[in-house]
Amino acid sequence: MDKTIDFSAVDRLIEASYPQLEADVLRLVSIPSVEMEPQPGMPFGPEIARAVDCALEISSKLGFVGSNVDGYCAVADLPGLNPEQVGILGHLDVVPAEGQVWTTPPFAPQVRQGRIYGRGVVDDKGPLLAAMYGAWALREAGLVCNRSVRFIMGCNEESGCNCVKYYLSKYDPPACGFTPDASFPVVIGEKGIVHFRLRQAWPIAGSAPFSLLCAQAGAAANVVPAMAEARLRGDATALPPLPDGIVLREEADALVLCATGIGAHASTPEEGENALSRLVAYLAQIDVAPQGVSAFLQRAVQWSRLDDYTGAGLGIADADAQSSSTLVCSSLRLSAQDGELGFDLRFPVSCSAEEVVCRLKQLAADNHMELELTHVAEPLFLGEKNRLGETLLRVYREITGDMHAPLVIGGGTYAKEIPGFVAFGPELADAPMLCHQADEYMECAHLLRCAKIYARAIYELAK
Ligand SMILES: [Zn+2]
Repeated sequence: MDKTIDFSAVDRLIEASYPQLEADVLRLVSIPSVEMEPQPGMPFGPEIARAVDCALEISSKLGFVGSNVDGYCAVADLPGLNPEQVGILGHLDVVPAEGQVWTTPPFAPQVRQGRIYGRGVVDDKGPLLAAMYGAWALREAGLVCNRSVRFIMGCNEESGCNCVKYYLSKYDPPACGFTPDASFPVVIGEKGIVHFRLRQAWPIAGSAPFSLLCAQAGAAANVVPAMAEARLRGDATALPPLPDGIVLREEADALVLCATGIGAHASTPEEGENALSRLVAYLAQIDVAPQGVSAFLQRAVQWSRLDDYTGAGLGIADADAQSSSTLVCSSLRLSAQDGELGFDLRFPVSCSAEEVVCRLKQLAADNHMELELTHVAEPLFLGEKNRLGETLLRVYREITGDMHAPLVIGGGTYAKEIPGFVAFGPELADAPMLCHQADEYMECAHLLRCAKIYARAIYELAK
């Protein structure tokens, strides 16, 4: 770190402005910026458009020059001595809070016991504004950098990153930068991701003691299902004993089997319990028509084991020195005509998507199933000796004294979208994961510390 610069003035400015930072976080978090149907000039709906206006108002108050990129992103600039840019890439959209039990309403943020509670406080509005206040304090303290600082505030990070794709169709990418949207100390690797579906038809009706009407599980491709349901016809008294986690409901025209589990993000599947796995393990014990369903279920059991998330059951488990694969069977759809299983596969940073897809094609062919790829993302890995990663790690360690090693994660961040970017904070390596959870919060002291860390990091990248 640059020892000739005295950052105490920057830190003092950040401390003095903290009440405003906190007030701005509360204001921005109170906007329920969940993606909705597009409207003219609002490609992600009206609430996200309101969040863009609010973020631009805050940035302009702090002296940034801002603009709205057709509702896809907002940008805010602090010009430097030359036009080359350092980028801070955050997002204004949030995931919905429906179906979650919150102590206080998710979009009526509140400060209690030294924490700010609200949807988006951690992911990603709090850290985004902390970085903005950090950059403001640099300028306010008279530290004009060589490079310009550009905030890019995306509006569609949670569902496809089309905001950044749109941005890159209009502007050159910044020379380098970070996204404050994962964990400290710094994320030097992100596993590759493939979402795929395997489908099979059963043309022959056949006959068996039970007949399948339908089955269904999975709300999103990247979530461990917490619920799964199947409808059958047959004699309820002939069913095998029900295990824990499955209940039977007898309706007039069907037997309904409901399995429950624990939802989790597919990048951390061990935190969940797959209801789909539980349901198929039970269904596979039943002799069921149409012909072909039982064989399909046997395979589903092997591929979606409750006790294994490595991909071993599918024969695609893989690992390298940095990372190992995870596999979640995240959706199930069975009908009287056909069946489909959907998967979220995260593969090690040393593999390529091409290799993985090649293996999946072979697997589908071997099992006479149709393969559909719905999302493919290459892994990201900076390697040990990368200047950007080293700089951010050094800044973090000098300020916090925390010597955790750099991270390789299963989640995909914005860093995958722009070359020369890494994810940097805001969550602490050992802290519980709060993003996307009920009662999402950020410690006020940590928000303040993030502003100081980001100020120093922006200076180091832009000086
Ligand atoms: Zn995020």
